[in-house]
Amino acid sequence: MPTCQRANDVIVIGGGAIGLSIGWYLARAGCPVTVLERGEAGRAATWAAAGMLTPHIEAKPTERDYVRLLRFSHDLWVDFAHALEEASGVSIGYRTEGTLMVALDRDDAEQLKFRHNYMQQWGLPVEWISGYEARQREPLLSRHVVGGLFSPLDHQVDNRAMVLALREALVRAGGNLREHTEVRHILIEDNGVRGVKLDDETIATDAVVLCAGAWSRNLNGLPESARPPVRPVKGQILTLQMPPDAPLITHVVWGLEVYLVPRHNGQLIVGATVEEMGFDTQLTAGGILSLLDKAWEVLPGIYDLPLVEMTAGLRPGSRDDAPILGETSVRGLFMATGHYRKGILLAPVTALTISHLILTGETMDIIKPFNLARFR
Ligand SMILES: Cc1cc2nc3c(=O)[nH]c(=O)nc-3n(C[C@H](O)[C@H](O)[C@H](O)COP(=O)(O)OP(=O)(O)OC[C@H]3O[C@@H](n4cnc5c(N)ncnc54)[C@H](O)[C@@H]3O)c2cc1C
Repeated sequence: MPTCQRANDVIVIGGGAIGLSIGWYLARAGCPVTVLERGEAGRAATWAAAGMLTPHIEAKPTERDYVRLLRFSHDLWVDFAHALEEASGVSIGYRTEGTLMVALDRDDAEQLKFRHNYMQQWGLPVEWISGYEARQREPLLSRHVVGGLFSPLDHQVDNRAMVLALREALVRAGGNLREHTEVRHILIEDNGVRGVKLDDETIATDAVVLCAGAWSRNLNGLPESARPPVRPVKGQILTLQMPPDAPLITHVVWGLEVYLVPRHNGQLIVGATVEEMGFDTQLTAGGILSLLDKAWEVLPGIYDLPLVEMTAGLRPGSRDDAPILGETSVRGLFMATGHYRKGILLAPVTALTISHLILTGETMDIIKPFNLARFR
């Protein structure tokens, strides 16, 4: 990582997984940085997430560049996790058992076989397994499971522990985190960033990174050419409690429209709905019912588990559902937003490339297809 020569702070707007990761990378490179978060850091989409790091099993045939970015970030994850735990002293629950995606009938199986076909053509490490083999890996899966995909390299992390670790690592590296501090306005003059305006204070800077998640589009002061086309996409998600010493599953398990993610502490995350409802975060009977119903079809043993939490978060979705990364038409204004369903997975590549860009002025090749200009 190059060393930093800056006089004033880089201002990062938003203290979710993305803003905290970028802030940490800049701070550890010796760069003065302040992360401004209007609430408590990491309590928006990042808190609601399931923490899956799954670039392979969810790969879609139309998303080749995007899958390349996801895999690049996935490859960074092991080192990122080690470095973060070491820098913070906080364990982040990185788990490597792998991910199963199961079919409950012939239609599901045909769909998964279709996916397996192009995954093989792309060289993705995903294998087809029979229902019997699936139950050998996870004995409590429904007896209706007829087959599925196994992806040994699709891992998971405890995203809430990751938030605690990132906060600690940022501050230990010398970065500032200011919570309960809302940016009201980005100040731009002569097509260059001059600072940000808070309620009763103005901070002068020539470098701002916009990481405000689902709210990124709404910042005052942005010219139309630098307003990211990001919308909120609601996700309801719930947590069941398994006996920690006798978990029902150890892999991440997907049905076709639901996933189950087991944590070390026995929690079982069941998610998630995908709803276009603006900034609404209300829980609904229908959302929770359908998650429980689909999860129960895959893993009937959840029936007796205590339900310990239900929540909803807003994913930052861009117009093409891929992230928006890099420079903008405004000098000194950088974007790191629109991470949609993959912001936890994409945190390492985002932190690496955006800090590199700020420190050196160079855009790394891997993020070139994801700049804001692609929407013009
Ligand atoms: C139900 C659900 C499940 C998910 N599961 C996964 C998963 O398994 N794997 C995965 O990789 N991703 C997952 N995601 C997606 C992931 O959570 C997001 O992509 C990621 O958290 C985005 O991080 P962020 O920092 O951009 O946004 P956020 O975490 O939303 O953070 C943005 C922050 O900006 C702050 N902010 C906004 N405006 C301002 C302002 N004007 N001034 C100061 N601060 C401001 C907000 O308060 C917020 O804290 C899931 C998301 C949901 C909702």
